[in-house]
Amino acid sequence: MSDDVVVVGSGPNGLAAAIALAQHGAVVRVLEARQEIGGGARTAALTLPGFAHDVCSGCHPMGVLSPFFRTLPLAAHGLEWIRPSASVAHPLDDEPAVLLRRSVDDTARELGDDAEAYARLMRPFTWKPLELLDELLAPLHVPRHPLRMLRFGLLAMRSASSLARARFRGRRARALFAGCAAHAILPFDRAFSSAIGLLRAATGHIDDWPVAAAGSGAITRALAGLLRERGATIDTGVMVTSLADLPPARVYVFDTSPAQLADIAGAILPAHYVRQLRRFRYGPGVFKLDWALDGPIPWRDPRCLEASTVHVGGSFEEIAAAEDDVWRGGHPQRPFVLMCQQSQFDPNRAPPGKHTGYAYCHVPAGSTVDLTEIVERQIERFAPGFRERILARHVLRTADFERMNPNCVGGAITGGVADALQLFTRPVARLDPYSTPHPRIFLCSASTPPGGGVHGMCGFYAAQSARRRLDQSPVAALR
Ligand SMILES: Cc1cc2nc3c(=O)[nH]c(=O)nc-3n(C[C@H](O)[C@H](O)[C@H](O)COP(=O)(O)OP(=O)(O)OC[C@H]3O[C@@H](n4cnc5c(N)ncnc54)[C@H](O)[C@@H]3O)c2cc1C
Repeated sequence: MSDDVVVVGSGPNGLAAAIALAQHGAVVRVLEARQEIGGGARTAALTLPGFAHDVCSGCHPMGVLSPFFRTLPLAAHGLEWIRPSASVAHPLDDEPAVLLRRSVDDTARELGDDAEAYARLMRPFTWKPLELLDELLAPLHVPRHPLRMLRFGLLAMRSASSLARARFRGRRARALFAGCAAHAILPFDRAFSSAIGLLRAATGHIDDWPVAAAGSGAITRALAGLLRERGATIDTGVMVTSLADLPPARVYVFDTSPAQLADIAGAILPAHYVRQLRRFRYGPGVFKLDWALDGPIPWRDPRCLEASTVHVGGSFEEIAAAEDDVWRGGHPQRPFVLMCQQSQFDPNRAPPGKHTGYAYCHVPAGSTVDLTEIVERQIERFAPGFRERILARHVLRTADFERMNPNCVGGAITGGVADALQLFTRPVARLDPYSTPHPRIFLCSASTPPGGGVHGMCGFYAAQSARRRLDQSPVAALR
């Protein structure tokens, strides 16, 4: 039987696009460059035998809340979400950590004088939250709930600095917001730099940021299981570098960077569109460390062990300065370090009594600097004795990420800069951002709306776009 659809890349978005098209009855083939599927949702024994590390994504608020994943029987294909009792812990010097818990009131109680201000900011997002997420995790569209979207949009378009200054007086609330906002990998004075912070904090009040039992690879294994059940084929070890590598099909969906799409299909796309693809901005990269640990992380405030994610960076001002420094090409001495402690909740990740540690910090694109000492010192600041627990470590620099996955251009992890210019109009400004000027070529990676994260929504919406072309396109080689 000939293929209707070829999907290039088996990341969460490639698999989501493939499933959505297979659900429509299409015969789908996925081509994956690596020997293993999963892209940014994979798990591997990076350190010692018996320790399972998430190579890229570690915590999955977007995965558990994804409007598309929620419709899929992923549990039947082995996916189990394990929820912590707090989504985020934010340790501070000389005072207790701040914990982001599901309850807005419980979280607000952590914030002293800002309790009421925090609750006022967050409470509206917890009313019918799934409706709001359906709207936010989508391309630009006429909102179904215009007033709620307007309320979110007016806050989200502000810079993280101005929102924090306007809403909070104390360092605890500001620090908590800074940790969430830093997921955007933008300077805090940029318009829209509060959007991802607000969304991240809101997700923590809708569900607890979970880890996947046995590792993030379980998410993509479940997606692949579901896809195969629908009759699709996944070929691994197939790196697509030119049109000649593609078998005949009706439509082609690329889970690749815009740059790769330009390299592979540039000859059959208009020159102005190829130029726009090449102008896409990917932003800073990351430096990542994984550890095999002799015990839990010895946080000075032991309540930090209740959270799946720990934002290590101190005050709002410190985190803002660190993110600004990275954006200007620097390597801060006190970086914002994003940690996950999966083994705290999932006993399958390490031998009895042992633990895994996962941390990354933002660095300039293409950075070759070894930040091991700086990252471990920053953790030690809030968890004295951390280094003594290290049995083995594994380092991933920007070039390692790009070698593993060409979508991570310069070590970037979210598909590209999510600023005012690229948040909605990724990869280029088009009414349908998943389509290209070629009627049979579509893009579905995190370089399309709604952007980075393991949620599959870029793939889902790209599939809706490709579906409209399926019946009009003959099975033929792409040229
Ligand atoms: C260090 C790190 C930490 C992260 N942490 C989180 C987190 O905690 N939570 C979260 O939700 N998200 C996180 N992310 C982001 C998340 O992993 C990505 O946004 C997501 O995986 C994007 O999915 P995708 O399908 O668009 O692309 P990818 O996951 O990048 O997958 C693309 C796939 O396509 C393949 N491919 C690319 N080009 C070709 C080609 N030419 N031929 C054949 N195959 C090709 C690649 O090998 C890869 O398997 C993290 C990412 C990184 C790197």
